[in-house]
Amino acid sequence: MIPEPKDKSESAVRKVDWSNFRDHIATADREGRRQWVYPRQVAGKFFRWRTWFSWLLLAIMFAGPFVTIHGNPLLLMNIVERKFVVLGQVFWPQDMIIFAMAVLVFFTGIIIFTAAFGRLWCGWACPQTVMMEMVFRKIEYAIEGDAPRQRELNRGPWNADKVFKKSLKHVLFYALSFLVGNVLLSYIIGWQQLYQIITDPPARHVTGLSFMIAFSLLFYGIFARFREQACTFICPYGRFQSVLLDENSIVVAYDHKRGEKRGPLRRDQKFGERRYAGYGDCVACNQCVSVCPTGIDIRNGTQMECVHCTACMDACDTVMGKVGSPLGLIRYASLNGIERGEPLRFTPRLAGYGVVLMVLAAVLAVMIFSRADVEATLLRAPGSMFQQMPDGHFSNLYTVRVVNKTSRELPVELRLENAAGSLQVMGGKLVVLPQKLLENSILVELEASAMKSGTTPLVIGVYSGGKRLQTLKTAFIGPRN
Ligand code: SF4
Ligand code: SF4
Repeated sequence: MIPEPKDKSESAVRKVDWSNFRDHIATADREGRRQWVYPRQVAGKFFRWRTWFSWLLLAIMFAGPFVTIHGNPLLLMNIVERKFVVLGQVFWPQDMIIFAMAVLVFFTGIIIFTAAFGRLWCGWACPQTVMMEMVFRKIEYAIEGDAPRQRELNRGPWNADKVFKKSLKHVLFYALSFLVGNVLLSYIIGWQQLYQIITDPPARHVTGLSFMIAFSLLFYGIFARFREQACTFICPYGRFQSVLLDENSIVVAYDHKRGEKRGPLRRDQKFGERRYAGYGDCVACNQCVSVCPTGIDIRNGTQMECVHCTACMDACDTVMGKVGSPLGLIRYASLNGIERGEPLRFTPRLAGYGVVLMVLAAVLAVMIFSRADVEATLLRAPGSMFQQMPDGHFSNLYTVRVVNKTSRELPVELRLENAAGSLQVMGGKLVVLPQKLLENSILVELEASAMKSGTTPLVIGVYSGGKRLQTLKTAFIGPRN
């Protein structure tokens, strides 16, 4: 069992129970009460790289709704109208099977990536971590100061300084949450519709405004209060770690072989003397714990709460630099890498996942490239029966829906293929705009001699430029006998 640290650092103050850290999350006490985490500000090369990368991701995230490809947004997940756009490609409800396959490929990719590189995504690219650590946390540091000052402020009385700082922080937090909420909404309904909701009289968009407020409050709650709990309680990805990671996965890891036995470094002590006395490189400074945004001690091994944010790597490297020991006591490494010095290996498990991913990706590619340019559906007009015309013919009314999946305007013609009669498109010709859906009514008339008693099967061809693109089958209702 790892002994409890004797120093009075952050971890000791937060009363982490070192004997049963695997039995409960680090940010709750024995009674389940939350222990608020005050991570110290961190500096170092990984933090610098993450900052640059985060700015890039934030720029993409905020600019995304305004970027269009062939007139379509970069990404649109319109659940209400069941319209999905990925990289300018529109996926209609008829393409759901392709969309489902794309989701499957995406998740298989994540599984393989996690098996090889652990939670690299969480630390570097997850919107929750990026927004929390690179935006909201920085605002908090700017207003309330580093961790000890924040703790002091929270414990102190509600004087003018505290009221000002807390008000300023929460106003900024809410304003940013409102912005983030609107960005999310514009990925769902498109920025044009969002603009209408904002500029039109409120009474016209009660639902839209309700969603705007709900999203803003949700994000405000997450970034102001919920924080690391979003990763440990809600996000399912972290829970999958235990089944996805193995001893060859790359994770943020403490080199216990090099670090133990840990103990404080005396001012007059040289590193050689420490080794002779049986100590490792860890000087038990607890800097790695004090910067951790999820409140864990990485020296206890890989834990579910670790989001691979690299803060402990930077903190420990700073300490190692100061005491003159090689950097990387906490680093990206696999368990086998630390135990046996093995590099990342391409294991049979990874190979198996890879084969599955390649097969799924190939199926997806075939589905996308063999996707028809036009997709038409034909339904009988609701509540309509047959009608007898003055010339003795019978007629049925249908509703046709044509989806144009190409990026060019498409004139479409419908032809009756299997019966003597006529087909008339109500309102003129069918011309479908690029990546749009057109709905129209069509009237089919059959001669009595071409009809069967009751129901006559109909075959209708969908043509464009003289080429048949699809064949529709339906039934023509007429009188019995
Ligand atoms: S920062 Fe490094 S030296 Fe300090 S306690 Fe953590 S692992 Fe040990
Ligand atoms: S243990 Fe290190 S990498 Fe993991 S969350 Fe804490 S600071 Fe980040």
